[in-house]
Amino acid sequence: MAEYEYETHEYDVVVVGAGGAGLRATLGMAEQGLRTACVTKVFPTRSHTVAAQGGIAASLSNMGPDHWQWHMYDTVKGSDWLGDTDAMEYLAREAPKAVYELEHYGVPFSRTEDGNIYQRPFGGHTTEFGEGPPVQRTCAAADRTGHAILHTLYGQSLKQKAEFFVEYFAIDLIMSDDGVCQGVLCWKLDDGTLHVFAAKMTVLATGGYGRAYFSATSAHTCTGDGGGMVARAGLPLQDMEFVQFHPTGIYGAGVLITEGARGEGGYLTNSEGERFMERYAPTYKDLASRDVVSRCMTLEIREGRGIGDKKDHIHLNLSHLPPETLALRLPGISESARIFAGVDLTKEPIPVIPTVHYNMGGIPTNYWGEVLNPTEDDPDAIAPGLMAVGEAGCASVHGANRLGSNSLIDLVVFGRAAAIKAGEVVDANSVVPTPNKASIDAGLSRFDALRNASGAVPTAALRDEMQAAMQADAAVFRTDKTLAEGVKAMTDIADRESDLNVTDRSLVWNSDLMETLELTNLLPSALATVVSAEARKESRGAHAHEDYPDRDDKNWRKHTLATVNGNDVTLTYRPVHLDPLTDQSEGGIDMKKIAPKARVY
Ligand SMILES: Cc1cc2nc3c(=O)[nH]c(=O)nc-3n(C[C@H](O)[C@H](O)[C@H](O)COP(=O)(O)OP(=O)(O)OC[C@H]3O[C@@H](n4cnc5c(N)ncnc54)[C@H](O)[C@@H]3O)c2cc1C
Repeated sequence: MAEYEYETHEYDVVVVGAGGAGLRATLGMAEQGLRTACVTKVFPTRSHTVAAQGGIAASLSNMGPDHWQWHMYDTVKGSDWLGDTDAMEYLAREAPKAVYELEHYGVPFSRTEDGNIYQRPFGGHTTEFGEGPPVQRTCAAADRTGHAILHTLYGQSLKQKAEFFVEYFAIDLIMSDDGVCQGVLCWKLDDGTLHVFAAKMTVLATGGYGRAYFSATSAHTCTGDGGGMVARAGLPLQDMEFVQFHPTGIYGAGVLITEGARGEGGYLTNSEGERFMERYAPTYKDLASRDVVSRCMTLEIREGRGIGDKKDHIHLNLSHLPPETLALRLPGISESARIFAGVDLTKEPIPVIPTVHYNMGGIPTNYWGEVLNPTEDDPDAIAPGLMAVGEAGCASVHGANRLGSNSLIDLVVFGRAAAIKAGEVVDANSVVPTPNKASIDAGLSRFDALRNASGAVPTAALRDEMQAAMQADAAVFRTDKTLAEGVKAMTDIADRESDLNVTDRSLVWNSDLMETLELTNLLPSALATVVSAEARKESRGAHAHEDYPDRDDKNWRKHTLATVNGNDVTLTYRPVHLDPLTDQSEGGIDMKKIAPKARVY
């Protein structure tokens, strides 16, 4: 192996990722006086969070009655009873506080006539524990909510003197021999130098792995790098079988049309012009939860009522809405529809199709963001020195299915929680431990091997194969047969990681090598997804299994843990947390309200 020199930087905390979760964590850590570095492969405000349109859920009651317990109920039901009860309570209770903090930091929320934060309806958000009408709970800055949040948090982090290392690519975690995370090994993309960030706490905020699939609404940077690093450190990934498809990706391009479009009154039609959601979900219709709407659309297409020559998509109608509403509340999607579908949405419907949108699974954590390394005796055992927040993590509040606008709130609530916890467990006065040389060398040698990879398969070719296999065999509809085929295909594909071919050997702006590193992160995530899905013999949330159409709480109300080693996956399970944080006598939720029942909308 070539000799690589590296520079060592010492911090109390290193945060990997500068999306909403990474920035909220960075800001919180810096506010507590911890010396904080934020390492990111793209400029902070280019993180995928910038694309979030619809909004952020919190029971502010600005548009009508609401309550955190109703938000909690909706989240529990949305998760199809797989979320951890304590974490879901924490999310719903802390949400208003976290949104008001954002407001005070300067997020330019849309306003009501009387100056309060504007809130819109979103799928699956209801009143009266699902008995009442839909609620307007989703706070929005027009249809550019994520954009507004990122710019605000980045500015505030700079104000608090957090240090940013932009266009640094994290390669691998540095682990001590006894399993403590000691930081992260990085490659600086623009000059090819290598860097060790040694820290008392490492926070992974690397986002989702949507790019394991062919059609995804997420940015090309969403390659599950945190999950890859964790898998290589021998730690498990949780609930990876649950992948959310958004009902309205623009047909062909995958670009998202926010659920806010249906929130503002848009509706779906099939080739017969029928508003088919009225048939499937008589109460909430087009605002039923995402997995339900995606499945109904797929059913319509399978039964021959799709639109177009290939009868393979559905129409989203907005032309009946007043042009002022479209211009005021949904300006961004008017532009997306014009650019990516060539339609003027004041006159024509938009062609849409269910598209991969969110990964419910990820790195298992408790509600403080501390990464779990479950053992047989202790399913909640902690991996010391390591946290994960945002879409990379799995707290788990979204369980088997995430509600719209519940991710942005997850980013800020748990980014903030991680900072609060770090303030307690990280001693700013202690010395930074010397990072394990053997672990750094292992990361360098993996990097060197990929840089010099001279096998038979170009990175782009293997990535295409993975994306095609995942799209074909692990998408909205799943059967024993498709999943078994998917496991076989993905096992073969993962096996060929050793046969990759990288043509560019340089260290400066080597996008071939960077995409190869990203592929080595996507592969374990994709493999864990299909293997976990194949094993789960029930239907729950986003995991709709045609051969087992019912939810099976007796056998399957448990979290899947997938430990990936090369192309081999070992599955174990850990119990769902059933206890709330607060007893009913102390103001907590009545547990009878959230007892499992069928999930109908
Ligand atoms: C089009 C779209 C619209 C959405 N709309 C909404 C919405 O309206 N409401 C809602 O609640 N949710 C929405 N979501 C979901 C939500 O936006 C995402 O789940 C969330 O933004 C993820 O944030 P994050 O901070 O976890 O990761 P990201 O924003 O994806 O950021 C990841 C960060 O990690 C860094 N990174 C990754 N790998 C490395 C590495 N190896 N080295 C260094 N840095 C690395 C990147 O540079 C980046 O800064 C939407 C998602 C999409 C795709």
